[in-house]
Amino acid sequence: MNPPRPQSAPVTRRALSSKAERFTESVIREMTRLAIRYGAVNLAQGFPDFPAPAEIKRAAQEAIAADINQYAITWGAKRFRDAIAENFQRTQGLAPDPETEITVCCGSTEAMISSMMAIINPGDEVVVFEPFYENYGPDAILSGATPRFVKLRPPDWTFDPAELAAAFGPATKALILNTPNNPTGRVFDRAELECIRDLCVRWNTFAITDEIYEHMVYDGARHISLATIEGMRERTLTVNALSKTYSVTGWRVGWVIAPPDVTAAIRKVHDFLTVGAAAPLQEAGAVALRFPLDYYQTLAREYVARRDRMMGILASAGFRCFKPRGAYYIMTDISAFGFPDDVAFAQYLVKDIGVAAVPGSSFYSDSADGRTHLRFTFCKTEKTFQAAAERLAKLRTAP
Ligand code: GLN
Repeated sequence: MNPPRPQSAPVTRRALSSKAERFTESVIREMTRLAIRYGAVNLAQGFPDFPAPAEIKRAAQEAIAADINQYAITWGAKRFRDAIAENFQRTQGLAPDPETEITVCCGSTEAMISSMMAIINPGDEVVVFEPFYENYGPDAILSGATPRFVKLRPPDWTFDPAELAAAFGPATKALILNTPNNPTGRVFDRAELECIRDLCVRWNTFAITDEIYEHMVYDGARHISLATIEGMRERTLTVNALSKTYSVTGWRVGWVIAPPDVTAAIRKVHDFLTVGAAAPLQEAGAVALRFPLDYYQTLAREYVARRDRMMGILASAGFRCFKPRGAYYIMTDISAFGFPDDVAFAQYLVKDIGVAAVPGSSFYSDSADGRTHLRFTFCKTEKTFQAAAERLAKLRTAP
């Protein structure tokens, strides 16, 4: 029976969730809204402005026409999970069991928060490399984890193994690794992954990896999944999605590969958060994940050309650029422009120059650490580069 209600509770203030009060709206997505408001070229939020491959669009249209329009199995349509397993085997040599080790989610965003909620208990800590993709901050708050940040430092954006070791302790539950990395472009190498492995094994922690930029690697860099490093498969939750690889960020279809006991927990969280990802789009995903190798080679080749084009534009406009070897962002140093901070400069850029970028502070727990940085994305067409180049040419560096 319900307990009796107090009859005359004085209502002074309707409190909101104290968790929700601890973080702001996404700055990345806010910059897109500002770009629309001011008619600026949007180099802020990472989504392509070119078409998705015809085959994936056709497969989605056919799935809708064939009436695959009701709920898929909550943890993902079988055909799609099979394709994810095959794809992981082809790219990384690991063969997850689609019946017990894969959960399909609404984008990697949901895969990440469902993963965190599935493993975190009060008092748990997560180790996060910084600068970090914005979402990981609120993910930690919502799941109840306390983040412990470890700096990646320019120009290489690698970490100091001693600092990483110092971040681990008895309360560490997991490490979050995004490779290829947003916003720095770092592609973590085997030695770094082994260093991470040693600590995860020593402290018996999980690792959650965000590998959404796996195919965007340049200059001979190779993406290695942390799960392939000896001792890590049984403790790694590998997050990925269709979004970036197939230029369908608006579809919201992602997944997480994890050991069976972890997957069982993730599936429960996922089911009650969202029930499932769009059924017809999962069918299209099953087709896309089986694209031939040359699709991925072309993708990387086209992206390296875009990176070089964007590096050229930014350098001529006076930015110091940190050349990324992966993902589709360029971190820059804006000291030359003489603005008080990254937010002031980003506001000026979007309103007066007509180009939207993301203030560096949105990737740091202490905004002072991002004060001299701005992030630009280069998943754009030549037309967009041209417009950005013309506008950025109006910028003046401080005398
Ligand atoms: N990953 C993209 C970025 O960093 C944004 C993704 C999103 O907005 N969900 O810009």
